[in-house]
Amino acid sequence: MSTTAEFRCRCGEVRGTVTNASPRTVNRVGCYCDDCQAFAHWLGRADLLDPQGRSDIVQVAPATFTFVQGQDRVKGVRLSPKGLYRWYASCCNTPVGNTLSPSIPFVGIHASAFDQDAPRADTVFGPPTGAIQGKHAIGEAPPGTTKIRPSLLLG
Ligand SMILES: [Zn+2]
Ligand SMILES: [Zn+2]
Repeated sequence: MSTTAEFRCRCGEVRGTVTNASPRTVNRVGCYCDDCQAFAHWLGRADLLDPQGRSDIVQVAPATFTFVQGQDRVKGVRLSPKGLYRWYASCCNTPVGNTLSPSIPFVGIHASAFDQDAPRADTVFGPPTGAIQGKHAIGEAPPGTTKIRPSLLLG
């Protein structure tokens, strides 16, 4: 059975849906990379990182992703010349997603955006299946997070 997952920014101006949402159709992964951490700090949303600096990301197929409201408030930023394109709701500095280029919008969505009303990310997508980029973790790299895991990167 597939579900339509709803996400929104903290203030509710930006809303969207992900169709065909299930643990099989998405990749939920923790990312410790310095670029994700820099993004959270840049937004003033370090509260979204866990104590070791992990971001909780849900990777979805771009075709399943739709804005329902507030798309004009979504802004993009790139924090380093080779960094991901990062998108956020400018109304309330909620991170929305990451993409490799501007032409493929929204492949990685912050799980927190699904958790505004209820703990839905766990219900719809299941818990994170793993974590990557552990070498950037604050403190010691968590076990199993420093190996290259193409399945988590590419989905
Ligand atoms: Zn907002
Ligand atoms: Zn990252």
